[in-house]
Amino acid sequence: MSRPVPNAGILDIAPYTPGKSGAGLTGRVFKLSANETPLGPSPKAIEAFKSAADHLEDYPEGSSRILREAIGRTYGLDPDHIICGAGSDEILNLLAHTYLGPGDEAIHTTHGFLVYPIATMANGAINVIVPEKNFTADVDAILKAVTPRTKMVWLANPNNPTGTYVPFDEVKRLRAELPSHVLLVIDAAYSEYVVRNDYEAGIEMVSTTDNTVMTRTFSKIHGLAALRVGWMYGPANIVDAVSRIRGPFNVSTPAMLAAVASLEDTVHQEHSRVHTDKWRAWLTDEVSKLGLTVTPSAANFILIHFPQEAGKTAEDADAFLTKRGLILRALKNYKLPHALRMTVGTEEANRLVVEALAEFMGQK
Ligand SMILES: *Cc1c(COP(=O)(O)O)cnc(C)c1O
Repeated sequence: MSRPVPNAGILDIAPYTPGKSGAGLTGRVFKLSANETPLGPSPKAIEAFKSAADHLEDYPEGSSRILREAIGRTYGLDPDHIICGAGSDEILNLLAHTYLGPGDEAIHTTHGFLVYPIATMANGAINVIVPEKNFTADVDAILKAVTPRTKMVWLANPNNPTGTYVPFDEVKRLRAELPSHVLLVIDAAYSEYVVRNDYEAGIEMVSTTDNTVMTRTFSKIHGLAALRVGWMYGPANIVDAVSRIRGPFNVSTPAMLAAVASLEDTVHQEHSRVHTDKWRAWLTDEVSKLGLTVTPSAANFILIHFPQEAGKTAEDADAFLTKRGLILRALKNYKLPHALRMTVGTEEANRLVVEALAEFMGQK
């Protein structure tokens, strides 16, 4: 008997496995595995979300107009060049669906975000993985992998799970040397956390080319991951094409209203940025002092490398920390079996992790 057959490529996809949530543990649990903000969303966003409860019978406004206008005001962008989505995940998938087909190639780097290969292969395209240098995307390696079939380059900047970023000069060089028909997707999910003077989130790159898009999210610094809101800024030709396949009501009203209120609460965002900056530096120092290597991060998490000696491995550390209610992210499926990713948490959570790691490393 024959059965429905999935499209080519679908069954080659390794399903996305999220980090442990800590559910099932007893006692206090600190979830530092999903890069969620420890400060929660803006109280104004929560209020706006609740206000939408009075009219759940109404469909949302289909183009996310009020949110696109709020984003436009915040960043000085034309709202007509913005598309909103149910998380930036939806936007990444819409981009792949619009531009990739069987036989096309899409490039990402070794430790690139795992949504990219899924979006690529879901459209029958070929996932091309290129090496990094010091856990950082390497422009020359990307350029070397370009073939006549290349249609897209995925670049998370900063990257998850490594936390490293590509300076603006290098992004410009990448764009300049890529063939003009290749779409460069700059995923700037963590851009709000970057405090470096050689970084640009993607706005200038998009504004000055017609083959580059930047995606952003409300899941990280805005603390609205549960609501699923993301957006893309792109040139008219790309916005026009992607809009044709976007679901007509893809962002819910409560999500839209909360996102608008969150954008307007710049004090909350600044508080979050300052908290992250301070504790990211503290964690990097303290964990390094224990003899562990930490990859310098520009995002709201750090990547900790463990020795490969029995009793001291990343897997051992993960088990040790989990027993204490400290949930970090194991990265086997990111080809980083000897590292754990830790989201910057509250002061209490950060101190508990450092204390536990000191004990784990036999220094306490
Ligand atoms: C968290 C994250 C996103 C955001 O995804 P949403 O669907 O908007 O929640 C996008 N890209 C990267 C690299 C991320 O780590």
